[in-house]
Amino acid sequence: MADNNYIKDSTSKFICPTYARYPLGVDRARGCFLYDFNGREYLDLLSGISVCNLGHSHPEVVSAIKKQADKLIHVSNLFYQREQVELAQALLETCAMDKVFFCNSGAEANEGAIKLLRRYMKNIKKQDRFELITMSGSFHGRTLATLTATGQDKIKQGFAPLPPGFKTVEFNQVDGLEKAITPNTAGIMLEIIQGEGGIRMVSELFLDEVIRVCNRHDLLLIVDEIQTGMGRTGQFWAHQHYGLKPDIMTSAKALAGGLPMGAVLARDEIAQAFDAGSHGTTFGGNPLACAAALKTLDIISRDGLVRHAAELGREALEIFSRLKAKHPKKINDVRGKGLMLGIELTFPGTGIWRALLEKGFVLNLTQDTVLRLLPPLIISKKQIQDFAKTLDQLLHDSQD
Ligand SMILES: *Cc1c(COP(=O)(O)O)cnc(C)c1O
Repeated sequence: MADNNYIKDSTSKFICPTYARYPLGVDRARGCFLYDFNGREYLDLLSGISVCNLGHSHPEVVSAIKKQADKLIHVSNLFYQREQVELAQALLETCAMDKVFFCNSGAEANEGAIKLLRRYMKNIKKQDRFELITMSGSFHGRTLATLTATGQDKIKQGFAPLPPGFKTVEFNQVDGLEKAITPNTAGIMLEIIQGEGGIRMVSELFLDEVIRVCNRHDLLLIVDEIQTGMGRTGQFWAHQHYGLKPDIMTSAKALAGGLPMGAVLARDEIAQAFDAGSHGTTFGGNPLACAAALKTLDIISRDGLVRHAAELGREALEIFSRLKAKHPKKINDVRGKGLMLGIELTFPGTGIWRALLEKGFVLNLTQDTVLRLLPPLIISKKQIQDFAKTLDQLLHDSQD
């Protein structure tokens, strides 16, 4: 306990208070479990926000990192590096893209995608179009451009003036999309399932309209797969559920098995807009992160984790639907795909969320009422059932 309080106090003393931290300090983690400073075990249904898809400290990822650290950690993009090529090839095999730009985070990947869109229009198409249409409720990052792209006002407060060239439309509102197009419009960016936005899935109707409008107005489609990618939703990339062909796609979060890494992927015709000197980053594609990512991709495919996520996700939705049927006044909706799941309560969920934490279950509450589950893809049905049983009990005990 002394440890807990010391860390807590020192955090507020030395670290910018940008995060409302959970009342839990994590000392170590393994597989699907976190351990606090007293050695108490928690079932992790959050995976460091969809980062640790293979569970924590997967032994093969750990050993790939150790081996790479011994050989080469960093040298900069002034040099050719084997690890980048190996990872690029493996990554491009998972999707219908031709080229990749490596960076270090989701925001940096989306920032890169926005820059690529603008530069493609200017330098390749020779057109003066720059505006990006994004969705209400979306989340694309915290840099000035990506927070402007984000369709949530709360993260923009106090940061004006925001860069021009962004417009938000209502997510899943078929009628509004085409009306937002102007001669300046260059592209549309969306998440297939909004994560921060409360596990809100794109409707097929809306997706059809996005494709129609992109074709009609010659716009690029950017898909933000930062949270939904790497097998999370039961396809390697969430857009593959719909046979969609994005022009640009971004990845990060789970990409390098827990090490920081992002990527912008694009079709050849578009990628050529990033010529020498047009964009860059010191750490991007660093061999250590590449080695971790390559091993992560290997394991996801070798162990059939995408299929596991799809199957277990279906079972989890059935389990949660039964809970909803049992507590119709307390659960409003259960939804998601694969192991990206939301349980929407009819009331603010802080109390339930906190009680779950006290019972040893770590998950996230988003948009006030949505319990968001992003468990490691290696989680078992039994572990999901344990969670459901505890939630059942807590809902039973809570007053409405
Ligand atoms: C987390 C997230 C980002 C931002 O990634 P960072 O690594 O935090 O910059 C962008 N888009 C989506 C969909 C995300 O979930």
